[in-house]
Amino acid sequence: MAIYQTMDKIEQGRRVLELRSPVTLEPIGEIVCANKQDVADALAKAEKVQVAWGAKTVKQRVEAVKKLLPVLLDNADAIVDTVVRETGKARTDALLMEIYASCDSVSYYCRRADKFLRPEKPRAHGLMGLSKKIELHFKPLGVVGIITPWNGPFILALNPTIQAILAGNAVLLKPSEVTPESGRWLQTVCEKAGLPEGLVQVLVGDGETGAALVESAVEKIAFTGSVATGQRIAESCGRQLKPCTLELGGKDAMIVCSDADIEGAVAGAIMGSCMNTGHYCCGTERVYVVEDIYDTFLEQVIEGVRVLRQGSDLGYEEDVGAVFWDKQMTIIETQVDDAVAQGATVHVGGKRNPNLGGLYYEPTVMSNLDHEMAIMRDENFGPIVCVIKVKDEEEAIALANDSQFGLHGNVWTKDTEKGINIAKRIDTGGVSVNDMAVGYGVHSAPFGGRKASGVGQVNGKVGIRGYTYCQPVISDKGAGKKSPTGFPRDLKQVETYKKVMKFLWTNPLGKLFW
Ligand code: NAD
Repeated sequence: MAIYQTMDKIEQGRRVLELRSPVTLEPIGEIVCANKQDVADALAKAEKVQVAWGAKTVKQRVEAVKKLLPVLLDNADAIVDTVVRETGKARTDALLMEIYASCDSVSYYCRRADKFLRPEKPRAHGLMGLSKKIELHFKPLGVVGIITPWNGPFILALNPTIQAILAGNAVLLKPSEVTPESGRWLQTVCEKAGLPEGLVQVLVGDGETGAALVESAVEKIAFTGSVATGQRIAESCGRQLKPCTLELGGKDAMIVCSDADIEGAVAGAIMGSCMNTGHYCCGTERVYVVEDIYDTFLEQVIEGVRVLRQGSDLGYEEDVGAVFWDKQMTIIETQVDDAVAQGATVHVGGKRNPNLGGLYYEPTVMSNLDHEMAIMRDENFGPIVCVIKVKDEEEAIALANDSQFGLHGNVWTKDTEKGINIAKRIDTGGVSVNDMAVGYGVHSAPFGGRKASGVGQVNGKVGIRGYTYCQPVISDKGAGKKSPTGFPRDLKQVETYKKVMKFLWTNPLGKLFW
């Protein structure tokens, strides 16, 4: 269902969109867009269910959520079929990115949710420690709105949902209009696993449905998608004083040092750029290679990309699938053509696949690129390896940072310490050393973007706690006895305060109370 268009058809006040296959370009269904009333009805239902769900202990929620694992495994083929039908992505990409990663998310958070959300008892600092006891409670927000894109239509819906429900919330999911059925699977698997009806509800539709969800009384918006939509959502949330996280686009750079393992780096560049047809937020979009090894690296990348298999059988034997959406095809083609017109070289690919009828863009290798070209500045999201020669690592770091985006990046060198030092100088939310960007799947690490790539961090302990508010409960150890520091005030009291202050901040022993 990669293509959609308004059919000018309205059913009971709801717009209807026609969906087409990216593989055959044939119509494959319709969706009826949820309207404001549908959002309000779903919210009312979710609010009721959330009360009982939020009152359960984390351990009880874990027991219920764990039941998703067998359901996901039993339905893996059916979910993959839906994802592939809607997106045309390579079947192996669907299996690993959507199913493996989803099971991994469920098991990771089920194993750790109780630890991450257990009340904490930090010691009060300084003199306060003598009289106060603190407890931090991580309480659910209520109903959370999750809005997702089309490139990872199941995992990007499931992963935040698991965290939100384990933290005690109900979820309203608005999947992309390009991949509504993959999104609907989330509600289906939750129902099959026996989670309370209404705890996870899917509202299909386009931006209007998403906007209605943002404007509704949900307590938080977790958004993944483009910069432009993220800005609109941030404006709306700002006006409503509603928290949100924004996981937005990227223009990841890869730095290949002269001492890199060339074979490994070549494989990393090809996978990082072409996996999921290049529709990967942390996809490698710019490869900066130090001049000593540039020629060898480029030659091997060209050979590696030339043998990638592209086909429309939708089987496990294909490496690079279709472009999921005709709008993305336009962006990819426009940027490549513009770069070529400005002198860029296409070594392989650079055009639609003439042997396939659907939305297939050939895996591509380009060089002779510079930062004036749109393909080096704006997100491309296509299966394109852009290779740029640099004098040295310093130039590579400077060019990597010369971007409005700051999502992820990767550095390749046999000297891991050197790699980590270079990584620390890249202004992005995360960096991999000797690997393509793997940040989203490494749950223990927070994930997020700098600059235009987003606001806030998701995943891991930080992420799951983001679906709660931390309520400190501070008790006085005097069990309610009248405080000596209270009213009435007098000069004697003030003199004592002055002495205490002098002791704390001039006497070396005062440091014991800092
Ligand atoms: P998009 O912004 O067009 O759409 C994303 C979602 O927002 C869709 O569900 C859409 O219907 C909805 N939406 C559109 N207008 C809205 C509005 N006004 N209010 C509320 N919701 C609205 O993005 P896309 O084209 O679906 O996704 C591709 C983008 O997502 C790329 O830029 C990619 O880099 C980014 N992405 C980021 C991450 C990350 O973790 N940082 C992960 C995957 C994708």
